[in-house]
Amino acid sequence: MSLLVFGSTALDSISTPKKKNPRLLGGSGSHAAVAASFFVSPKLIGVVGKDFPSKYTSLLKKHKVNLKGLKVREGKTFHWAGEYEVNMNNRRTLSTELGVVEGYSPVLPAAHRKAKYVLLANNPPGSQEAIIDQLEKPKFVVADTMDLWMNVAMNDLRSLLKRVDMLVLNDSEARQLTSDDNVVSSLPKLHKFGPKYVIVKKGEHGAILSSRKGLFVAPAFPLTKVEDPTGAGDSFVGAMVGYLAKTGGSIDSCIRKAILYGSVVASFCCEGFGLNRTTKTTRSEINQRLRALEKMTRV
Ligand code: AMP
Repeated sequence: MSLLVFGSTALDSISTPKKKNPRLLGGSGSHAAVAASFFVSPKLIGVVGKDFPSKYTSLLKKHKVNLKGLKVREGKTFHWAGEYEVNMNNRRTLSTELGVVEGYSPVLPAAHRKAKYVLLANNPPGSQEAIIDQLEKPKFVVADTMDLWMNVAMNDLRSLLKRVDMLVLNDSEARQLTSDDNVVSSLPKLHKFGPKYVIVKKGEHGAILSSRKGLFVAPAFPLTKVEDPTGAGDSFVGAMVGYLAKTGGSIDSCIRKAILYGSVVASFCCEGFGLNRTTKTTRSEINQRLRALEKMTRV
């Protein structure tokens, strides 16, 4: 079934203690769409400036990402710069330059309004909700968010959460949103904001799903080397929704496997800068890692 992905399409400048890589293809939308493309041909919605390199457009097209909803505006592409410490769990945002994102309101091409699966990857909650307003009859809407929006757009975030089926956020964001230090006891509080499904991501320690079927504790794929975790969260949710859209079946019966696919695709993302490793990954490598992960967690 059709999948719509709305998110940032960015140029990312990433520094780790070992390497600096300026102006790579990044953004929550790009990472999520490429991850989803292992399962379906996602329709990406977003905006870039005239400076967006054509090699990145070609790369997205090569991955069968539908770019009809990617608007090109006069001005500069959204640019994000971040720096990791030796402990890669610690990241600092050095700068965020909105560029063409400023004043952009997403408009869905007519054919995109019929999308059944919708991923609202990290973006201002007001524009995430503007996408929902344009949908005809979606089956499953997932929203990702970040601490920034809790600080500057909490009312918009509250309004958005009433209208999504699933919320995905990381553990520190769950704590911030609920003022609860314990991730497990924060889950019922997160459901109270609206979503029936909540996933709290815990980086290298995996993720917890909470739904009316109870909890599912999912591992991350264990890696010996992490080159750059930027976009791992977006890859996780992109692959998960991509798999759900491919099966088109009941969410409850597919969600656990979807989450494992999310963990696997996110692990490839961490093994290279930006999208370098993800875009070289094959479906058979993904299946191999999925089988390994299933084996490692079987009792
Ligand atoms: P993650 O590592 O999963 O948190 O995602 C990092 C990605 O999010 C990078 O590719 C950034 O371009 C993108 N990003 C960072 N800040 C923002 C923001 N304020 N809005 C939208 N996307 C962002």
